[in-house]
Amino acid sequence: MDGLTVRDCTRCPALVESRSRIVNGTGPADADVLFLGEGPGAQEDAQGEPFVGRSGQVLDEKLRERGLSRDTVRITNSVRCRPPDNRDPTSEELANCRGWLDAEIERVDPAVVVTLGKVPSEHLLDRNVAVTTEAGTVERVELGGRPREVLVCVHPAAMLYDRSQEATLEATLDKAALIAGIDPDENHGGQSSLGDF
Ligand code: URA
Repeated sequence: MDGLTVRDCTRCPALVESRSRIVNGTGPADADVLFLGEGPGAQEDAQGEPFVGRSGQVLDEKLRERGLSRDTVRITNSVRCRPPDNRDPTSEELANCRGWLDAEIERVDPAVVVTLGKVPSEHLLDRNVAVTTEAGTVERVELGGRPREVLVCVHPAAMLYDRSQEATLEATLDKAALIAGIDPDENHGGQSSLGDF
């Protein structure tokens, strides 16, 4: 293993049964921002890449607007195999997959790890997290060999069900860009300000 790619794993019998393939992380091995989701859904399982379904489209769009295009960030999941019926991964499954995640974080060595939703936030912070109210907060935790900044974020799919979460998602991604040294106000791709005319 290169620290990034899991080629074979049979630690979780239920996930081995339900997956079509192992879905590894994507993006540069030296990315400044690492996004962490919960686990692959149907689209991710079919295509072998994290966040390629509807929530991935939302994430891509919001990243693009702030100069954090998909191919400049690392995107991975707390478990790499699709749980049956899209259920949450169990704590045992999360624990089984944790070594792969820690190795990936150690290898990528990002400036910030952004947890997308409740499951990855609680997994890394090791406590209950009220994501909607805690989104945008940064906590320093030991991950992949050293203390790192974890930024809590709502899951991108949340804004599809509750439009009020869009501003929360955007503000948190602005913060991720700032921590990574990218000025979001200079990168609202495609949007012209009046000053351009
Ligand atoms: N939601 C996740 O948590 N991960 C994915 O890869 C896709 C949707």
